[in-house]
Amino acid sequence: MTDTQTTFTQLTVPQGSFDLLRYPFRTDEKLRAWDAADEYLLEFLGAKLDAISSSKILIMNDGFGTLSVALNAFTPVNFSDSLVSQISARKNLAANGIDDKQVTFLESTAALAGEFDFVLIKVPKTLALLEDQLSRIQANITEKTQIIAAGMVKNLPKKVWKILEKYLGPTTTSLAKKKARMIFATVDKQQKVPPCPYPVLYQLENTEYQICNHANVFSRDSLDIGTRFLLENLPETSAAKDIVDLGCGNGVVGLLLSERFPEAKIHFVDESFMAIDSAKETFKLYLGQKEAGKLLFEGQHQATYHVSDALDDFDKDSADLIVCNPPFHQQHATADKVAMNMFYQSRKVLKTSGELWVIGNRHLNYKHQLKKLFGNVTVVAANTKFVICKASI
Ligand code: SAM
Repeated sequence: MTDTQTTFTQLTVPQGSFDLLRYPFRTDEKLRAWDAADEYLLEFLGAKLDAISSSKILIMNDGFGTLSVALNAFTPVNFSDSLVSQISARKNLAANGIDDKQVTFLESTAALAGEFDFVLIKVPKTLALLEDQLSRIQANITEKTQIIAAGMVKNLPKKVWKILEKYLGPTTTSLAKKKARMIFATVDKQQKVPPCPYPVLYQLENTEYQICNHANVFSRDSLDIGTRFLLENLPETSAAKDIVDLGCGNGVVGLLLSERFPEAKIHFVDESFMAIDSAKETFKLYLGQKEAGKLLFEGQHQATYHVSDALDDFDKDSADLIVCNPPFHQQHATADKVAMNMFYQSRKVLKTSGELWVIGNRHLNYKHQLKKLFGNVTVVAANTKFVICKASI
């Protein structure tokens, strides 16, 4: 997959015309890098802002970088939980000949500095993330800050208004345009803002282990049924030294692999900053329990952490075992390309003797996809909903 295979789509808004694409690239991509809510927001701002203004702008959850590119003249801050979204923004800046220093990229778990004149929020799929973000920006907004949340009407449940009012103040709403809406929130500094409820912990069933979950983490309140099935069917024996928990979320899979194979090093990988922070905390708590029970021996239960798009960070032939419960959504859209890229990269990163274990919903038929890349693919477990495949070169 290279940039040259991709055709860009042009967006024309008051800020200019821009060539944009969705990352990861796909030659047969049917979706654009922006939606009608991005357009609506940019048109609205076009009438309000001019390029020489010194307005400080914070952009939250910019899906593929459209807002960051169009508003680059304001040197905005791009605040996101997704490394892939930020990679997409950088690629789109470069494609339009814009220096990526125009935009400050900040991860969702980092502290923000200074006060903002505008906060532009693309409403995220996980509303817990919206809550977490509104809680984090409290010191960076004043009653003069203009806060605009935008989204497609179908992705704006009533709860969005409730969250905005709870953390900011009164709201008004725009008319719908091309099925998109904007919500304007007025900051009321007299209002008492509740403490952020995240991260949360749950105890992993049938164990003593506490699992840490930041706001944007997959299945953050309890164990997902697919993950449970995977945990019940992890490899029994393995001589693996380097094990990758690919798309680790809160790290629960890697934790049980470390429990089973204490001599192995577990590499936690996820594109979400919050997932990696959660996995780190989950593992820290686990090590603390091992230490307290005098079960932590030198050289055992080691781990590394990577905020990475799939296995971008890993060398060829460097892993013995990769275990993966892949995502089948990218932002609001269903997408199999992320899983496919994970399989493709696993093929490169695995040693010749290595194995990739993948769980998926039965209808996704990962076995078929894996067979295109691996010489041996077998089903190790299946139930009415899920199938776990083992693939080797
Ligand atoms: N392993 C965890 C479990 O079973 O509970 C989480 C599985 S969840 C279905 C998929 C995970 O993949 C999410 O944590 C998501 O953030 C991560 N993910 C999505 N796209 C990714 C990418 N391009 N690279 C790495 N991780 C990604």
